[in-house]
Amino acid sequence: MKNTDIAQLISQYPLVQTLISLEPVTWFNPNATTLAAGLPYVGLDQRDVADASARLARFAPYLCQAFPETRAMQGILESEVAAIPALQATLNQRYGVDLTGRLLLKKDSHLPISGSIKARGGIYEVLTHAEQLAIKAGLLREDDDYSKLFSDEFRRFFGQYSIAVGSTGNLGMSIGIMSAKLGFTVTVHMSADAREWKKRKLREHGVIVVEYAEDYGVAVEQGRKEAERDPNCFFIDDENSRTLFLGYSVAGERLKKQFDEMGIEVDAEHPLFVYLPCGVGGGPGGVAFGLKLAFGDNVHCFFAEPTHSPCMLLGVHTGLHDQIAVQDLGIDNLTAADGLAVGRASGFVGRAMERLLDGFYTLSDQEMYDLLGLLDRDEQIRLEPSALAGMPGPWRVSADGEWQAARGLDARRMAQATHLVWATGGGMVPADEMAKYLATANI
Ligand SMILES: *Cc1c(COP(=O)(O)O)cnc(C)c1O
Repeated sequence: MKNTDIAQLISQYPLVQTLISLEPVTWFNPNATTLAAGLPYVGLDQRDVADASARLARFAPYLCQAFPETRAMQGILESEVAAIPALQATLNQRYGVDLTGRLLLKKDSHLPISGSIKARGGIYEVLTHAEQLAIKAGLLREDDDYSKLFSDEFRRFFGQYSIAVGSTGNLGMSIGIMSAKLGFTVTVHMSADAREWKKRKLREHGVIVVEYAEDYGVAVEQGRKEAERDPNCFFIDDENSRTLFLGYSVAGERLKKQFDEMGIEVDAEHPLFVYLPCGVGGGPGGVAFGLKLAFGDNVHCFFAEPTHSPCMLLGVHTGLHDQIAVQDLGIDNLTAADGLAVGRASGFVGRAMERLLDGFYTLSDQEMYDLLGLLDRDEQIRLEPSALAGMPGPWRVSADGEWQAARGLDARRMAQATHLVWATGGGMVPADEMAKYLATANI
């Protein structure tokens, strides 16, 4: 981008200067509207989510066979909701604002198979593709018991096909492990941020790992090109996939059920705030979509990004979406939050969801490390840095009385609110790697 164009953009959107300065910002979205008004722009609806949910139920018997650790949950991959009151008290002190509602943690970090939120979207897209191939070949019907897929016959069948994906790490883990288990030949194109242990683990599962010295955007482009040369290769497009998005969206109705079981009310008097770490946008976008369908206008969703990779905030705020990358402004996209190290946001997710999100904010890498250390110290829960991005959200919201008033969120409602921080990864981080993370926390 030319300097004159950057100056022009800053004069129109002064917040862009703060992003360039790498200072943490909070931006409440003035275009946020009701579910009824925003839903038509998504292009997907409740029926699509119900379809995804039914597909995951069909595959549950297969997952029980293929991944015995999922038997306890009958092959349905879902995570716990945990209260974190000791950390809540610590952060009241740290941020100098008392959070009046209740603070909860959604532990996607501990989802089976891949230990991150990507166990929702990534695995769902692989299963969808496998189902289509098997049905088309006359080998499978929707009313079959899908545990039959766990057989040499089906592994040989899927072995004729391949799958490719570009990833900063966790998406590759989910898609790689799932695809290899079904019998596909799978190639994961890894960006420079990807952690060594993730590559090692994938290779142990028989996944082909191709490494790049560049960032996520380059890894995706190379993966896409290589897949185009092979008609039997299916490329999973993290930047534009509706299928991935729907895999994530099932989380909404599941959370509603969990809340019902826990006796947690969500209505106009008891609002729900959800804070989601954002990379390219598919994960948080799909989850937020599911949450809006499940809880309507009583849920308020916020996306959190590193100060060095604020791609979704930049795209939505300027309306340029995937037409601009943080690097165009000289922002380096270098962050310890490898799951969020994305310079250009998904244009699909930004355009689909920009009216259904209440706000966006950024935080520094050191803040994520400190929160990682505090969560370990106060609650004995260990996450990877990306997964802490949601944690300051409740205090950013609580500090802004003007926004609360504009949305009709008075003191009584805020006192009855639930703040849910979506912990997106870290359950499978090796001990030596975790020790390094903890040592970086300044607490
Ligand atoms: C991928 C990822 C995210 C964000 O998901 P996107 O779909 O890239 O926006 C957040 N946290 C972790 C740990 C991730 O791996």
